Amino acid sequence: MKIGLFFGTFNPIHTGHLILAQTALNETFLEYVWFLVSPQNPFKQKKNLLSEYDRLRMVELAIEDHDQLRASNVEFTLPKPSYTIDTLTHLRERYPSYEFSIIMGEDNLQHFHKWKNYEAILKYYPIYIYPRGGAGAALPQVAEHPHIRRFEAPLLQLSATYLRACIRAGKSVRYMLPEPVREYIEIRGLYK
Ligand code: ATP
Repeated sequence: MKIGLFFGTFNPIHTGHLILAQTALNETFLEYVWFLVSPQNPFKQKKNLLSEYDRLRMVELAIEDHDQLRASNVEFTLPKPSYTIDTLTHLRERYPSYEFSIIMGEDNLQHFHKWKNYEAILKYYPIYIYPRGGAGAALPQVAEHPHIRRFEAPLLQLSATYLRACIRAGKSVRYMLPEPVREYIEIRGLYK
């Protein structure tokens, strides 16, 4: 089973994330995409970051009708802060027959060489890269690695930051995230 891991805070999950996940399924050999929700970092409390349980629940609500998408809380119980290599190692031990890959935006490649044990990540896990609109920016050498694979995806410049600002200002976020997620936020008065 080929699984692409899409890491994020998902505060909240939005249509940009969902379009990207569906495009990854369409344009690569991946059979499933798992959304790995980052836990709260006890050393870096962020004012606007909802609890990990609210963020996980919103991912579940967003994808409940799609059998190739899954919400994962695996990082909630791993030591914090969570490093990608540790999460990958944990997943590989827990699901030895699955093939895990990482899905990430091209912009992340610029700093990839600073990730903990990035050489080991590259050696053992394929990385699927999608464009993020940074046209013209020179790519680091790591981009040439055979484990780095590209796929085309539509660029949607939507961010959770923008959604949170809209909600705070009383503006509508309809169509920017799935309706059950919008209702979850509205009923609980989140991000106000
Ligand atoms: P924030 O605005 O709070 O920083 P975000 O919208 O960037 O949040 P994250 O949870 O940080 O959302 O995103 C998870 C991953 O999805 C990150 O790797 C991020 O680069 C990517 N991503 C965010 N928005 C989009 C989008 N519109 N299209 C494709 N990928 C996106």
